[in-house]
Amino acid sequence: MHMHTRHIHDRYAFAEACLNDLKARNLYRSLRTVEGPQESRVVLDNREVLVFCSNNYLGLANHPAVRGAALEALNRFGCGAGASRLISGTMTLHERLEHALAEFTGYPAVLVFNSGYAANVGILSSLMEAGDIILSDALNHASIVDGCRLSRAEVRIYRHRDVEHLEHLLKEAHGFRKRLIVTDAVFSMDGDLAPLPDLVDLAGRFGCLLMVDEAHALGVLGLKGRGAAEWFGVEEKIDLSMGTLGKALGSFGAFVACSPVLREFLINRARSFVFSTALPPPVLAAAAAALALVENEPERRAHLLRLSREFQEGVSRIVTMWPDTAVEDALRTPATPIRPLILEDEMMTMEFCETLLKKGIFAQGIRPPTVPPGTARLRFSLMATHTNEDVEQALGAIQETFCELIGGKSRKGKGESA
Ligand code: PMP
Repeated sequence: MHMHTRHIHDRYAFAEACLNDLKARNLYRSLRTVEGPQESRVVLDNREVLVFCSNNYLGLANHPAVRGAALEALNRFGCGAGASRLISGTMTLHERLEHALAEFTGYPAVLVFNSGYAANVGILSSLMEAGDIILSDALNHASIVDGCRLSRAEVRIYRHRDVEHLEHLLKEAHGFRKRLIVTDAVFSMDGDLAPLPDLVDLAGRFGCLLMVDEAHALGVLGLKGRGAAEWFGVEEKIDLSMGTLGKALGSFGAFVACSPVLREFLINRARSFVFSTALPPPVLAAAAAALALVENEPERRAHLLRLSREFQEGVSRIVTMWPDTAVEDALRTPATPIRPLILEDEMMTMEFCETLLKKGIFAQGIRPPTVPPGTARLRFSLMATHTNEDVEQALGAIQETFCELIGGKSRKGKGESA
């Protein structure tokens, strides 16, 4: 028995070495368990905390109408789809959700995927191939990065939101069969917006396909909640508009809105679509019910955006008390529900996170490789179910934590001495 354990230990030494290395560099991660449903207040490690790091932006994950729709679907259609969409897994609920999403987005066709990750990987790797070129923003989500890698196309990264750099790269990109520009609409870890009107212009001038990931904008931005493209007024100019069902829509899964021919192409070629069991009935019904709430209750996102502005302004006021953080901070695009507080140093970031947690505020520390080296941060996100008092409580806790951990020192000084 002892020998056996040692043998296993040796075989897994690589994993232990990796974990030890991560710990030494303050990059080790572990799971925290939320008790009960996903609300703005949850129990974490036996105490109630206010959640400021969920993408459940509209608070719909446990909304009675959304839950009720899931329950009804469960009773009528059961738990699982039993097979991939192309075998026997396409159910009436998939079709209904796709029609509802097409109507909502105004696109002629929609295809549902099993997650945002699966959508981005499947779309990019099928659409683009060797001999093609993809131009991708430096801060695009990991699922876009992985889709680019799997595609075997040439990938050129343009500086974050830098339209001139993108234009320069496009002018140099000769001899490729197809060209595609891909971007997050709202960047997941920074909360800033892609310059969509400029990207539309460049895509038109250079004959590129344009793909936009609206994961963090769907249900949140735009008068109708259709996302950043609606906010900018460029909706009909985007070839592939991807959205997720697991964030503002409170469920799980994703979709792409596009032309019928691209939908047909993806059904035939996107491997994450072809080779994966279809989404289960309750998830689909929940997403459809949430979509109806997005359409019918615009006050949710109005409240969310008001709170976001209040929170952004509050954090900016606190940050200006520590001068070397102020400039970088002022440059951030205001008032999406995502607000990063960049502390740079990984250890400081996790210490900040733990201190806030003791004060009843849950905002997860985010470190590389989720964000670039040297930009570790707390990523705050607001929910429509937060109250003004919740926001005030969070701001109070943030200010206290700044005083306790950073005190009179500048952020960099503290980081370097840590
Ligand atoms: N795109 C972006 C911009 C994201 O932030 C995420 C998830 N955080 C995804 C795609 C992946 O979506 P999902 O969680 O549904 O896999």
